[in-house]
Amino acid sequence: MKGVKKENLPSKVCPVCGRPFAWRKKWEKNWSEVKYCSDKCRENRAKNQPSA
Ligand SMILES: [Zn+2]
Repeated sequence: MKGVKKENLPSKVCPVCGRPFAWRKKWEKNWSEVKYCSDKCRENRAKNQPSA
């Protein structure tokens, strides 16, 4: 992420709340696996789709 400006950070759309969220430092090692904007949304996802 060297030299990357804040506005150029990668972003994704959370499938639970439908809101875009930007790359965060805590995700630097697993950004490719990040799907939800927060633990809360991840939990909501689990509740809504117990089969998954
Ligand atoms: Zn979300």
